[in-house]
Amino acid sequence: MQNLKTYKLHIAGKAADPAGGEWFESVNPYTAKPWALIPRGGEADVERAVEAADAAFTDGPWPALSATARGALLCRFADLVAEHAGRLAEIEVRDNGKLITEMRAQLNYLPQWYRYFGGLADKIEGAVLPIDKPGMFTYTRHEPFGVVAAITPWNSPLLLASWKLAPALAAGNTVVVKPSEHTSASMLEFAELFAEAGFPPGVVNVVTGFGADVGGPLVAHPKVAKVAFTGGEAGGRSVYEAAARGLKPVTLELGGKSPNIVFDDADIEGAVRGVVSGIFAATGQTCIAGSRLLVQDSIHDAFTERLVAFASTARMGDPADTETQVGPITTKPQYAKVLDYIQVARDEGAECVLGGGPADRPECGDGWFVEPTIFTGVENRMRIAQEEVFGPVLSVIRFKDEDEAVAIANDIAYGLAAGVWTQSIKRAIKVSERLRAGTVWVNTYRAVSFMSPFGGFKRSGMGRENGQEAIREYLQTKSVWISTADEVPDPFVIR
Ligand code: NAD
Repeated sequence: MQNLKTYKLHIAGKAADPAGGEWFESVNPYTAKPWALIPRGGEADVERAVEAADAAFTDGPWPALSATARGALLCRFADLVAEHAGRLAEIEVRDNGKLITEMRAQLNYLPQWYRYFGGLADKIEGAVLPIDKPGMFTYTRHEPFGVVAAITPWNSPLLLASWKLAPALAAGNTVVVKPSEHTSASMLEFAELFAEAGFPPGVVNVVTGFGADVGGPLVAHPKVAKVAFTGGEAGGRSVYEAAARGLKPVTLELGGKSPNIVFDDADIEGAVRGVVSGIFAATGQTCIAGSRLLVQDSIHDAFTERLVAFASTARMGDPADTETQVGPITTKPQYAKVLDYIQVARDEGAECVLGGGPADRPECGDGWFVEPTIFTGVENRMRIAQEEVFGPVLSVIRFKDEDEAVAIANDIAYGLAAGVWTQSIKRAIKVSERLRAGTVWVNTYRAVSFMSPFGGFKRSGMGRENGQEAIREYLQTKSVWISTADEVPDPFVIR
């Protein structure tokens, strides 16, 4: 116990012990051993954090800052993230099992979110309306909500928190972040950088702990004005219900079961790599995983053969090793869930053509590793085709033609993303239009940017993160009417 790094909550600009005096272990998924102690927050900590955020929103330096100064602060924070990118990447690897190569790239890219939204802060313009009433001057203002609750999952902790923090702060809100109980360390380190950048105390607070202990009270808190959640469907539903009770606006980024569609006119080598990046990168633990591979009949066998040959070369092992391509599953329950789904696929009659179980390789140490797994002969009605596994398990489904591909792709409750592989521009445009998904990639997969709106159709969520429209999720419009009339109007007639 003594060797474990002990973290503290971040409330009102200071490190704080949890009111309940309890900590829990954070486990390194590669060694399956604890490496840090995370404060177990509860309702009293939520209370302190929300009060601090509310006070910072209402009074003091934060609301007095001009939008330009707020943007400058976000840019200063971006510089600090860039400076600390290497260290933060290492924490994510230790806490999450993410590959060091991917985390370095992600952390080096992360400052762009704060620069982009920092730049946007003073471009939020209202309008003077050419109002139809005489003797009236009317204009609109876009104003922040107040305290935002940002609740995040365990995959890509800092990236997904930044998708909320950057626009919420640029808009002038204050934030209480509740990171996943599985990967809280990086957010606690991040919070210190906000203080170092000069954010006034209370503008960014972090309360760690479990969903029911912290997430629940946070969403329900009467002083929380807006909720932004990324996570699974069950958590999303509870958060949505609790927010509805408080009549609060919500942004939800939920799961997916995204189709990656390979037509017979595709560049096959590119498609093979794209399919692999869609399902085996980040060990398949991404909401945008291209976990349903739809392959046109005429190339099905040849394509699958090349895919299996290429995927079987993926190097598994220590995520801190720059040569590793597939790391461990982040949590033990998730490891068990992935293995259960492999059994479900077998029981449903799908044929396992690669992997299909725990990885028993010396380079995998004691970690929670699952072999990259591919099932062929999958029917779209099977559970393995309909439910999110969140792991390195690919279901291959055949289709005859464009209509059938689109029908299968859309025959699902989710609508987060989709991939299309074709060399026909006509087909690329037509199929992209017909797919019911918030993001469509053509001849690429897994590309995201601070500039490009991201979010789900159907049960994959509501609202958008990233891009200019993301800042609107954290603003509400006020109309201001000023009478310039000299006469006193009739009080009993609407003006
Ligand atoms: P999860 O829903 O279990 O947890 C997400 C967060 O919500 C955690 O911080 C958790 O403590 C909290 N939480 C859980 N129940 C809660 C409740 N009742 N009230 C308030 N807070 C609660 O999700 P996870 O397992 O951490 O993450 C994996 C899921 O996230 C997958 O389904 C994945 O698809 C989804 N995800 C979506 C996106 C996206 O942008 N669409 C991105 C990444 C992950």
